Amino acid sequence: MPGSSETQNAPPLSKIELRERIRRQGLELGFDAIGFAPAVAPPGYPDMLDWLEMGQNAGMAYMERQAQARAHPRGVFEPVATVIVAVLNYKPETSSKPGPGDESIASKRTCGHVAAYAQGRDYHFIFWERLDKLLAAIQADLPDVRGRAVADSAPLMERDFARLAGLGWFGKNTCLIHKSIGSFTLLGALLIDLELPPDAPFEADHCGTCTRCLDACPTQAFEGPYRLDARKCISYWTIEHKGHLPDEAADDLHGWAFGCDICQQVCPWNRKPPAASDAEIRGDGRFHEPDLLDWLEMEPAEMKRLIKGTALERSKRAGLVRNACHVLAGNGASESLPALNRLAESDPDEVVRHAAARAAARLQSNSK
Ligand code: SF4
Ligand code: SF4
Repeated sequence: MPGSSETQNAPPLSKIELRERIRRQGLELGFDAIGFAPAVAPPGYPDMLDWLEMGQNAGMAYMERQAQARAHPRGVFEPVATVIVAVLNYKPETSSKPGPGDESIASKRTCGHVAAYAQGRDYHFIFWERLDKLLAAIQADLPDVRGRAVADSAPLMERDFARLAGLGWFGKNTCLIHKSIGSFTLLGALLIDLELPPDAPFEADHCGTCTRCLDACPTQAFEGPYRLDARKCISYWTIEHKGHLPDEAADDLHGWAFGCDICQQVCPWNRKPPAASDAEIRGDGRFHEPDLLDWLEMEPAEMKRLIKGTALERSKRAGLVRNACHVLAGNGASESLPALNRLAESDPDEVVRHAAARAAARLQSNSK
């Protein structure tokens, strides 16, 4: 091994040996898979422009602002020669079962669902820390190598590079599906200026004639296979959208208070893979079917503490309580009326007041 005392006199590693050594180091750092892609224009770039052109990015204006930079990974790290893609498995132990008739909701209608990826520590931090360690390990052998760690933080089409790196195919639900990990996968990348032999791209598509994800989406957000209209997606409304929810979105959350996993829960490729074993990813259970009435009754400072360091911080208290109000109304949880009325009257946040008033009115009209 280069740099280690036992191999100081060993011949230098070939590029393939070096690649495999980096892959091993990545796995030792806790990633579930590592792949190597060339630094090329991502094949899905024209489709992404088309998607933007049709406005299917909804209110995610940053996608338009960053469109040009996504054309090539050098838009993120100018001297890039290789894109090392890292995968983390976040498959939950048991999936929340959404929709009417769900026993967990029926038995406790004040509970809601939180997307599996958000159950643990904010995955951005996990990627940045581990990818920086991977870069340090590479630099221990090759001090001149430079790199940049990326996890959703820069305009890189990670999913395209994951496919180029042989890590899986794009399912009709638009997620990357890894043959042995499934689609509950988070992606990060380390861009380095060292050229390494890439893995063979993943060319096959193992969805076949299956359309479960398309059929299961409760809001018909897929305009067809591989095409998601964010303007209809629960994940978009509950996470990305700031301010009031439009009526059609507010009435159509299907129990989801943050994100939505339905189009992954139904995917047959997620049946066999093991659940995530990483404690940081799994979390401590506080967001597994949380009692949303608790969220309504929580002091803002307490809520801030609850979500600190997790992906739920993206929605902040206002977004989460807004979602909770609408989910409680959708669940018919009339026991939340006193809390909703209190928030509607006196919450300092206008978005919360509006959501609480709307939810209370919906519950009252349903009880007539
Ligand atoms: S995340 Fe939910 S709402 Fe969005 S496409 Fe998938 S099933 Fe539909
Ligand atoms: S549910 Fe079926 S069609 Fe959808 S991603 Fe999974 S295998 Fe592909």
